[in-house]
Amino acid sequence: MTNIPDALRRLVKERAGNCCEYCHINLDLSPYPPEIDHIIAEKHDGETTEDNLCLSCGFCNRNKGSDDRITKTFASLYLMSGQIILY
Ligand SMILES: [Zn+2]
Repeated sequence: MTNIPDALRRLVKERAGNCCEYCHINLDLSPYPPEIDHIIAEKHDGETTEDNLCLSCGFCNRNKGSDDRITKTFASLYLMSGQIILY
């Protein structure tokens, strides 16, 4: 796991306005601690850059994982709206 520089971590948190960028819950209200997530997992060559990082609640990060459960390739995230995002 790559060490994310503090400045980049702060930038992602500020950009997200302290909300999970997947489910939009205010992280002060979430029972899960905030996490910085690689949208495209490092194991799939996702980079530690601003545009590949997002602020996530622990629930969304655990549900997203790093691999699609069926294809075992990129992870997909099923949003509460029913929208499916494939990475
Ligand atoms: Zn979330």
